[in-house]
Amino acid sequence: MKCKLCRALENEKDKYLYEDDLCVILPTKNMKGHNKRIMIVSKDHNLQQSFVTRILESRFINFCIDYFDEEPTFALCESTYATIPDHWHKIACDWKGEEDIQQLHFTPHRAIKTNVNWRPNNG
Ligand SMILES: [Zn+2]
Repeated sequence: MKCKLCRALENEKDKYLYEDDLCVILPTKNMKGHNKRIMIVSKDHNLQQSFVTRILESRFINFCIDYFDEEPTFALCESTYATIPDHWHKIACDWKGEEDIQQLHFTPHRAIKTNVNWRPNNG
């Protein structure tokens, strides 16, 4: 059975940044003031936390390290405020967009460096 998101994904194939058998990576509909805000979505429904989701997560992180390469770090968010119940997914964004960054502080997330040598204020 295809849900609303399955159908939405089919209509947004031209926006895909990445696709394989398990997942799709594409910009989020709502950018919330960010320059870059993307998500990875599993193609399957009800993919529980598992070995597969670990693989998808590391695939997404590797993708993001290139995608956010002009930023020192990006935020990898848990789907606490998610509106997509059936599909495993994660969102990554830059640190632009005042209002959403306020909300980010209340959302479980990790800041991931795009360059391992970067330090704050090391200008
Ligand atoms: Zn679906």
